[in-house]
Amino acid sequence: TERTLVLVKPDGVKRGLIGQVLARIEAKGYEIEKLQLVRATKEQLAEHYAEHAGKPFYQPLVDFMASGPIAAVVATGDGVITGFRSLAGATDPTTAAPGTIRGDLGRDWGTAVQQNIVHGSDSTESAKREIAIWFPADEG
Ligand code: ATP
Repeated sequence: TERTLVLVKPDGVKRGLIGQVLARIEAKGYEIEKLQLVRATKEQLAEHYAEHAGKPFYQPLVDFMASGPIAAVVATGDGVITGFRSLAGATDPTTAAPGTIRGDLGRDWGTAVQQNIVHGSDSTESAKREIAIWFPADEG
């Protein structure tokens, strides 16, 4: 069955939204296979955001992601990669559709980085790569 890596970013954890994110994943019918509260290391963030290295928002993004605990989640179910991104909504929480995690719970806080509550893998290759970053002991 398909797996995806979901992160509840530091803004989501700080605001007490882990439960709401997990509830939406479960309510949709996906399963929580793994769940861990972590402090991201520089190495993990460099790997996770490798595709954004060099972009103007890269350093603020990495600093933000290191600013507090993150909830790392492996969610499973047929279609969960696309399905979770649909639950998450558009990257910018200001314009993300109501009904989505970012649309319902996020906003522009006037910071350099979009604090958009969650991350979700965007393909099976990304999911495999990202699960290995956040759950290094994972064999699957
Ligand atoms: P995610 O991968 O987190 O689900 P996404 O695929 O919609 O979101 P990406 O383009 O992969 O977004 O960017 C990763 C993250 O980088 C975004 O979630 C956001 O936090 C941040 N980000 C993206 N674009 C910008 C930008 N222009 N300015 C500031 N931060 C940005």
